[in-house]
Amino acid sequence: WAKAEGRGRWAVYDPERSAADIARSALAAGLPAALDRGEFVLHYQPIVSLLDGTMLAVEALVRWQHPELGLIGPDRFIGLAEETGLIVRLGAWVLRQACRDAEGWRRAYPEARLVVSVNLAARQADDPAIVETVAEALTRTGLPAELLQLELTESAVMGTAGEPLRSLRELADLGVRLAIDDFGTGYSNLAYLRRLPIHCLKLAGPFVEGIRADGADVAADHRDERIVDALVRLAHALELWVTAEAVETEAQAERLRALRCDTGQGRWFGAPVPAAQIRARLAGGGEPA
Ligand code: C2E
Ligand code: MG
Ligand code: MG
Ligand code: MG
Repeated sequence: WAKAEGRGRWAVYDPERSAADIARSALAAGLPAALDRGEFVLHYQPIVSLLDGTMLAVEALVRWQHPELGLIGPDRFIGLAEETGLIVRLGAWVLRQACRDAEGWRRAYPEARLVVSVNLAARQADDPAIVETVAEALTRTGLPAELLQLELTESAVMGTAGEPLRSLRELADLGVRLAIDDFGTGYSNLAYLRRLPIHCLKLAGPFVEGIRADGADVAADHRDERIVDALVRLAHALELWVTAEAVETEAQAERLRALRCDTGQGRWFGAPVPAAQIRARLAGGGEPA
């Protein structure tokens, strides 16, 4: 069998194709069946008021419960799903599931008015059917439009044609909130902020990372902090909410609050967790479970 093994090795050995490439295509090939078999799950991460610690929203973050590889994070398959086009179908599933979970929380805890925030990939936002897909997720689940927020990166907003997507106005007309994800890391064409009905800016992790109230590791010129300060002022001048992403320490949370940032998200406020744990946190009055 040594010979067979040797032959097998030759069959897969191709200097043009690395082992990582092969693993990538195997993963990509498995995506459609995984969707049909219901192997995707949503985890939710709290988005918390920096003023009083109330959980105001949760971000839906997709994971793949792979039968052999275990729980796989989106950074390993969202790009593949975009390349193959499956993102449109996967994204529609995410939207519907997130709206269904949020409607369940709303029925149990209407006074919490918990918003669910869903990521839209560029290719998904550019899909002609996106407005219909979102409208359908809302009507099928009964979730009020104002309890759904859609997150798009700056490049997704600008679309493949380099023009702000027209569908965004129609989405806003449905009554859903629009947020710019990872704000400050794309090639910002700030003109879209004048023209589009955006509700929220999410400040990208790398800026937040540079903020440390203890002063221990702060770069001498406080550059990240000054950028956050300026972006919060910009957002507020335009009457937009600001969410700081990747808040990992109490010191960061305190500093962000001093900078008038409205909400925070990150390990300090709670990691992404299954839907049941969000319900438990609502039952506990919104404080960390
Ligand atoms: P994102 O939208 O910027 O989501 C925030 C990411 O930061 C999440 O990674 C989250 O787990 C991670 N994070 C949470 N707390 C902390 C923290 O304290 N520090 C740091 N450094 N990071 C933290 P995750 O879940 O691996 O998702 C990665 C990206 O995958 C997301 O980035 C989003 O762009 C994409 N993604 C996730 N779910 C979906 C989805 O349903 N549809 C689409 N199109 N993209 C998705
Ligand atoms: Mg996001
Ligand atoms: Mg982000
Ligand atoms: Mg990201």
